[in-house]
Amino acid sequence: MNCEICGRALRGEIAVIRGRHPSGKRIARIVASPDRDWIECEACSKVVCQDCCEHPKTGLCDACLERSQLFDELQFVESCTIDELEEFLEAKRKEGL
Ligand SMILES: [Zn+2]
Ligand SMILES: [Zn+2]
Repeated sequence: MNCEICGRALRGEIAVIRGRHPSGKRIARIVASPDRDWIECEACSKVVCQDCCEHPKTGLCDACLERSQLFDELQFVESCTIDELEEFLEAKRKEGL
C-alpha cells in the first residue's frame, strides 16, 4: 500500500483478529501495528501517511480537515487542557439552545 498523496510505501497495518472466547462467544479485535505511520481518512477513505497529514489523531486527511468547519475546533481540542475543553463544550451547549 502507498500514500495517496506522496506515493511512498507505508509501514504497518491494521489487522482484524478473530477468535473464540473460552465461553464460546465469537470475538474480533482490531489491532494496529505500533509502527503504523498512516491513517485512512474517515471522511474520504483516502490512505495518507503521517507526513502528509498534519493531524493524524483526528482521523482526517488535511483536505477534509480544511473543508470541515471544525478545523479550528479540532486543533484546539487536540492541544487544550481538560478545563479548557469543559469550558469549550459548555459554550457549545449554550450555542445549541
Ligand atoms: Zn504521504
Ligand atoms: Zn479525507
